[in-house]
Amino acid sequence: MFESLSDRLNGVFKKFRGQGRLDEENIRAGLREVRLALLEADVNYKVVKDFVDRVRERAMGQDVLKSLTPGQQVVKIVHDELVELLGGEQQDLELRAKGPAVIMMVGLQGSGKTTTTGKLALHLRKDRKMSPLMVPADVYRPAAIQQLTSLGKQLDMPVFASSTEMNPVDIAKNAVAQAEAEGQDVVILDTAGRLHIDEHLMEELANIKAAVSPNEILFVADAMTGQDAVNVADRFNDLLDVSGIVLTKMDGDARGGAALSIKSVTDKPIKFVGVGEKLSELEIFHPDRIAGRILG
Ligand code: GDP
Repeated sequence: MFESLSDRLNGVFKKFRGQGRLDEENIRAGLREVRLALLEADVNYKVVKDFVDRVRERAMGQDVLKSLTPGQQVVKIVHDELVELLGGEQQDLELRAKGPAVIMMVGLQGSGKTTTTGKLALHLRKDRKMSPLMVPADVYRPAAIQQLTSLGKQLDMPVFASSTEMNPVDIAKNAVAQAEAEGQDVVILDTAGRLHIDEHLMEELANIKAAVSPNEILFVADAMTGQDAVNVADRFNDLLDVSGIVLTKMDGDARGGAALSIKSVTDKPIKFVGVGEKLSELEIFHPDRIAGRILG
């Protein structure tokens, strides 16, 4: 992930570091290359513009230009701004609740919602010692119910017995009641997706949200779809006020555009990234580590 962006930026930084002195003109020239590298990585153009403007403003400060190591300082400014772009501090799931905590997974079909539901359940059991109930709430595709049921078997974890005759709001409410009765402390709702955003789906998701007041609504986005993922995230967020984002398929050759744009555009943090098809292949998203990896 981020290999070609990383190579490009390191090329620019080598030049910065190699120059004993920097002046406004060579900073400008270097930042033009940073701008191109970000655009080539498919970062949203407005995000790129704001980013480069912020770096330029800080880099042109006299204390940077007059310092003994201006090149290093500019690289540090880019690093700091990159951490901010990726969301600043790492953001944990907020799961305090009186009864079972509720996590609602939303996103388009194929984005990796069901797989991520299984990954998240495993993470919560393993790292937070929680006891999850997974809930298939996509009643339009029997295969979706089947897929989560089989993940439950693999993980030896309970799955709510949804059927295509039930309505998703009832499924969500009944699942929370069942978890409460049976002692599971977190319910993960795997909601229906579509190939495109449609009104019926959005209304259904809003109704589920109103019925069970989730602690977290996680928008699952396929990083390989680049700026489309960012636009869809923005729409879902407008309608549902999501609490966080999971970027899947970061193990593929996604150029990084979605990861670098989605927080700025939606103002919602990336909480996890999917880095493979296996259930263990979910990572907590740490902006500083990712920035380090990009500038590595
Ligand atoms: P849903 O329709 O949103 O529930 O999507 P699925 O969970 O069924 O995932 C769609 C496809 O993406 C499946 O083939 C998954 O194995 C694959 N997938 C999901 N997450 C990842 C990931 O992080 N990396 C890779 N390489 N594949 C993933």
